[in-house]
Amino acid sequence: MRAVLPLAGLILAGVTNLSAQAAASLSPQVREFVSVDAPVVALTHVQLIDGTGGPVAGDQTVIIANGRIQAVGRSGAVQVPAGATVLELPGHTVIPGIVGLHDHIVYETNNRIVDLNFTGPRLYLAGGVTTIRTNGALEPYSELGLKHEIEEGKSPGPRMHISGPHISGGGPFDIGLPGNRVLWFRFVKTPEEARRVVAYWTQEGADWFKLYTRITRAAAAAVVDEAHKRGAKAMGHLCSITFREAAALGMDNVDHGFLTNTDYDPLKQPDQCPGDYRQRLVAVDINSDEVRATFRDLVAKHVAMTGTPAAFEASIPNRPPLDQRVLDALDPEVRAEYLGVRNQRAMSRDTTPLLLFRKALQYEVAFVKAGGLLAAGEDPSNGNLPGFGDQRNYELYVEAGFTPAQAVQVMTANGAKVLGESDSLGTVTAGKLADLVVIDGDPVANPADIKKVVTVFKGGVGYDSAKLIASVRGLVGVR
Ligand SMILES: [Zn+2]
Repeated sequence: MRAVLPLAGLILAGVTNLSAQAAASLSPQVREFVSVDAPVVALTHVQLIDGTGGPVAGDQTVIIANGRIQAVGRSGAVQVPAGATVLELPGHTVIPGIVGLHDHIVYETNNRIVDLNFTGPRLYLAGGVTTIRTNGALEPYSELGLKHEIEEGKSPGPRMHISGPHISGGGPFDIGLPGNRVLWFRFVKTPEEARRVVAYWTQEGADWFKLYTRITRAAAAAVVDEAHKRGAKAMGHLCSITFREAAALGMDNVDHGFLTNTDYDPLKQPDQCPGDYRQRLVAVDINSDEVRATFRDLVAKHVAMTGTPAAFEASIPNRPPLDQRVLDALDPEVRAEYLGVRNQRAMSRDTTPLLLFRKALQYEVAFVKAGGLLAAGEDPSNGNLPGFGDQRNYELYVEAGFTPAQAVQVMTANGAKVLGESDSLGTVTAGKLADLVVIDGDPVANPADIKKVVTVFKGGVGYDSAKLIASVRGLVGVR
């Protein structure tokens, strides 16, 4: 089934700006993190979770040639080309590069919002995330510049899909955000204004637009229409618009799942974000007709959902387990703030956040059972850091009841599908770009092993995860 295929002829469909980037074209600043650089590489004797959702396979060999996956199959059955650099990897697991669909270049806490222009891309890549969609930009131009730097081999980082500013209705005071957080937003009053924002940022290079909690249906319809006309797509962290309304409006993706869906709120008024609606979500039954109705609409209109479980978990008392990698990466002042908030939260006796969090996970499992397309993202905030949070999603999805193969599929192939890049990315399949994560362990037997990333291949170039992480020590929160 998985014979060695010739490279020519495989590369036709859907590959536009996606490329394998030869290590030779990388700058010294990027090359310093490259640990595997050879035209042909064989990863032998690995456990493979290939992203398709199919069975986990033992003792596999993956051949990488000129940046692409040339062959994959049982060790011994796949021929290792003469002259290949062979990495013997028994005890290791390979998954596709993670596609993170809510992976900001920004870190948010209760008190601050900081750019991750330097540290973010390194941590994403180190964590096995080879493609991100930024999901609302604090500084769209800074993200565009970063994307170009990475594409030109001047900075290490993942492939990037750029979003414009958050587009909301209302104004800063309605959103209730302090200080410079309003920089995230473009508050539009009319559909014409919304079209203008989309027209401008698509011309500048954005290909996704994020609608935010106070957007009106009229403005959202304008964003969707203008974006689609220009080959871009619309997603949302919603509230004033329910998920069923989002489906009717033709949106492409709703983010965060259950905790941002106002379909079930008895106090919901058209175009308004009801206050405290999350408290009332406690009463919603995941197996109810109203929930089924949402899923039916999303599936019928091909609206994907992006889960961000690690981001929600970050506000639950005593969760997640304290991660030394997070403490090491944070700037001392930001680390003290994180630990202070965490310790204070640990004293809380309010069980509602945990209940809602569990319900949100059940909701995503039920959505997939109903035929929905679920992808995953990270949303850096409150100790939930780029890459590490994407990995944590895997553990949470397995805890929620997905099989390891399904959890990986959500985080890889499904993300690629939402981005329209399934032809090149998302599974370990001959002909696709060699975006692969090598893990020293077995995340099937022990989900926490997902963190033991050794090498991350992007377009066939292998990056040293530990070295990337070491390069940002103490800097998250600064740059
Ligand atoms: Zn976000």
